[in-house]
Amino acid sequence: MERKIYKKSKSIKIVTMIMLVMIISSCGNKKSSLEDLQKVTTNTEDKSNNFASGLIANTDTGYYTWNIDKKHMMYFDNESEKQVILCNRPDCEHKYDADGSVTTDVKCNGYFSDEYSKNHILTYGNSIFLIKKVNKKGLYLTQIAEDGHYREELLCLTENTSEESLNNIILHRGYCYFAIESMKDNIAVSELYRVQLKKDAKPIKIDEIQGTSPIIMHIKGYEDEVYYVKFTCNSESLNNPLDAKMSYELKKYDIKAETISDVLDENIDDYVVDTVNNVLYYHRCGEAVYKCDLNTLQTEQIYSDNNLILCKLMYDGTNIYIDNLQTYICDGDIDRKIYAIDSYGNIVKKIECPVTFDKGIFECGDSKYLFNYTYDYWNYIGKDSLNQNNNDVITQEEWKQIEWE
Ligand SMILES: [Zn+2]
Repeated sequence: MERKIYKKSKSIKIVTMIMLVMIISSCGNKKSSLEDLQKVTTNTEDKSNNFASGLIANTDTGYYTWNIDKKHMMYFDNESEKQVILCNRPDCEHKYDADGSVTTDVKCNGYFSDEYSKNHILTYGNSIFLIKKVNKKGLYLTQIAEDGHYREELLCLTENTSEESLNNIILHRGYCYFAIESMKDNIAVSELYRVQLKKDAKPIKIDEIQGTSPIIMHIKGYEDEVYYVKFTCNSESLNNPLDAKMSYELKKYDIKAETISDVLDENIDDYVVDTVNNVLYYHRCGEAVYKCDLNTLQTEQIYSDNNLILCKLMYDGTNIYIDNLQTYICDGDIDRKIYAIDSYGNIVKKIECPVTFDKGIFECGDSKYLFNYTYDYWNYIGKDSLNQNNNDVITQEEWKQIEWE
């Protein structure tokens, strides 16, 4: 008798489960599968150039970031200028508090366990991509639907499961480009790979660098070319960057010819390309910002400043942004300076970030907003502020913290 009751309740449970699944899939999910990446024809330009930190990425409708708990993906909507959890499950009971903490269960579409790296958010077409650590198998590029409801491990980037081995990754024109750092026969090596955005496609190595602290970084896609910087450093001065001999080589990979060439034989620590005018802007390590006509290779200095030892360069199609990264280079030095300049090197605006900015991250963003990230919170400011001529400075007070809807 007891056994019979047990059986009955089990079958009720199964029926309930099936009904629940049917309800979820009919109401919550707009689509049953992911966007076909081979059919992405618009929006194929890589946008990570505008969001180099990997902590924020955008599509045409909004921006994706992490909640302060680093477990929930947030969506910041262009129109409402508010953020929500990336979850539209009607039955989901996710809740958030004023302090930004979130209560959900693991079934919430916006929940991403520790298997997912929180260091690289990428977008391509209307899909989101994250790096997933699959136990004993490697790091997988994982595609996620724009509303968060569906996920799939697209391809294995590397069998190395250490998240730290992957420091730079972009998606550009149907391919993923990424650098892997590892030790091979006791020699440090950084390798650049390329793989098509296709189910189970296999990465192919296209370049590498060995030496002391070898890094392939600043991978940026520009039309039919992918630029990147190969870095090594002399071993004596790793603890004192100001004395270190840092070698930076700027390379470009021609996608159609599948060849690699030097861009300029100079010590370039960061750069941007204006593809409309075919101009390269770059910072020569320890020196100034230069402009190079890529047709004639004619070069001129356009901007210099004290303490411009290293520099993060950004470009949003209108202005070039210079961040002197001082609080990263010299501990205790608060002379962090961020400027927007025009193509002649004239200062358009000095950009002051919130007081707490300190070692925070500045992103020039897209055509709509500038962003900064400090102590787990994102701030933004409309690009209109750059065009107002009544003030030379964007002040600390002008920044707004991203709020909940
Ligand atoms: Zn939810």
